[in-house]
Amino acid sequence: MPPEDFGAVTVHSVKDYTSKGNVIKKIDMTESSKLWQNPWQLSHRVRLHETLKKTATSPDGIGTPATLHVSSRVAAVDPQSATVTLENGDIIQADLVVGADGLRSVTRKAVVGHSGKLIPSGKAAFRFLIPREAALKFGSIKVWKLIDMENLPTWINGKVGLLGDAAHPFLPHQGQGGGVAIEDAVALAVVFSGDTTPEEVPERLKLYEKKLSDLSSKLIPERIVQI
Ligand SMILES: Cc1cc2nc3c(=O)[nH]c(=O)nc-3n(C[C@H](O)[C@H](O)[C@H](O)COP(=O)(O)OP(=O)(O)OC[C@H]3O[C@@H](n4cnc5c(N)ncnc54)[C@H](O)[C@@H]3O)c2cc1C
Repeated sequence: MPPEDFGAVTVHSVKDYTSKGNVIKKIDMTESSKLWQNPWQLSHRVRLHETLKKTATSPDGIGTPATLHVSSRVAAVDPQSATVTLENGDIIQADLVVGADGLRSVTRKAVVGHSGKLIPSGKAAFRFLIPREAALKFGSIKVWKLIDMENLPTWINGKVGLLGDAAHPFLPHQGQGGGVAIEDAVALAVVFSGDTTPEEVPERLKLYEKKLSDLSSKLIPERIVQI
C-alpha cells in the first residue's frame, strides 16, 4: 500500500528550533532527496503499525495469512529444536523462530547465551506532541533515559534469528530504528522464499545475518536505546 494512503508525508525540509520557537537551522531536502530511490516519508507509528498488521493478517495477500496470538509472553526459546516456551507453560514447535521482541529481548539469550549488556548513555529524552509549556503544566512529564547496548557477536543461532531492536537497537534521534526493523523483515522475506525447507533454515539464516551485518556496519555507530 502506498504510504500516502495511511497518512505518510514527504519530508521537504528539516528545521531545528530554540525553546522559544526561533529557527536555528533549516536544511532544504530538495537536492539531497534525489540521491535516494524513494522519497523520505514520515508516518504516525500507530497508522503504520495498523497497516502492517492488516496486510500481514489479510487473506487477500500472497501466502497464508499470519495469525496473531496476543497475551502470550515468551519465557524461553530453544535454538536447536526451534521451540518456544510461553510463561503459561505452553510449548510451540516451529521451523524457524524470529525474535522481534525488542530491547529486553528474551530470544537474545537463546542466540548469544546472555541478555545483552545494556549501558546507560548518559542521555535522556522528552517525548511530546503538544507545546512544552502546556505539557509542563501537567507535571507528569517523565524523563526517558537512553541507554546503549554492546554489539552482539551474532544475530543467529541454529533455527533462531533476531530482528529489529532485539538485534541492534538504534539511537532514536534519527528516527531509524523502526525503519531498520522493517528492512530486516524484508531481508528475511527475501532469503526465506516460499520453497524453503525446514532443513535449509540454518543456512538461510546465515544469509540473513550477512545482510544485517552489511547494513549495521553503516548504521550501528548511531545505535542507542531506551529504558
Ligand atoms: C524516544 C524514541 C523515539 C523513537 N523514534 C523513532 C522514529 O521516529 N522512527 C523510527 O523508525 N524509530 C524510532 N524509534 C525506534 C523504534 O521505536 C524502535 O527501533 C522499534 O520500535 C523497534 O521495533 P522492534 O519491533 O524491533 O521492537 P519493539 O517495537 O520494541 O517491539 C517488541 C515487541 O515484542 C514484545 N515482547 C517483548 N518481550 C516479549 C516476550 N517475552 N514475549 C512476547 N512478546 C514480547 C513487546 O511487547 C513488543 O510488542 C524511537 C525510539 C525511541 C526510544
